[in-house]
Amino acid sequence: MKLEGKSVLVVEDEPEMRRFLRAALGSHGLEIVEAATLGEATRRVTSRRFDLVLLDLGLPDGDGLALAAELRGFTGVPIIVLSARRREDDKVQALDAGADDYLTKPFGMNELLARMRVALRHAERAAREPEPAVEHFGPLSLDRARRRVEVSGREIRLTPTEYRMLNLLADHAGRVLTHRQIAQGVWGDSRTVEAHHVRVHMALLRKKLEASPARPRLLLTEPGVGYRLCEPDLET
Ligand code: CA
Repeated sequence: MKLEGKSVLVVEDEPEMRRFLRAALGSHGLEIVEAATLGEATRRVTSRRFDLVLLDLGLPDGDGLALAAELRGFTGVPIIVLSARRREDDKVQALDAGADDYLTKPFGMNELLARMRVALRHAERAAREPEPAVEHFGPLSLDRARRRVEVSGREIRLTPTEYRMLNLLADHAGRVLTHRQIAQGVWGDSRTVEAHHVRVHMALLRKKLEASPARPRLLLTEPGVGYRLCEPDLET
């Protein structure tokens, strides 16, 4: 996934941070547009389209999450939250509001670039029809047309619940899904299904797919937040 030429809206009130992002992202050929307040960001996103939004949460005139929720009303543009808030609840809230990913400040530029590539690729994949016949995630291959799952060439039999869970994670490969999003996607209900159910079925799925379930390489845990299916870009 090439970053060159992509347009990015940077919503950030701290001049230092904006300067850092402008220099670092600009050197990768990205087009940067800046907004220092929630109001300015709202004006920007309604006047043109962007390929990606980097979103700070603590803004002088409100919470960045309001913008995430508003954006989700009319566009699938990838949103990566960059925040100093480190509580798991904050991450869960941001992801549930529709953010694609969440990085805690301070973060490394390589990590941000990797997350941006994943988010952009995901958006491109969602816009493209049809899906590739067989998808590969490291040793795992998923053939949805034939409903066939293999690890290192060996066929793996999954229960319908496990299969739905894997499909959901593959739809959002490289992104964290919260317990609530997984419950909603797999069981169609996020209120009565408890995080405990998600954990149990994830453990079963890991047992079948991971070479060493206690040290997962494919189905990664984001502590207190949820799970992500590993995407090669994130392994660097
Ligand atoms: Ca801020």
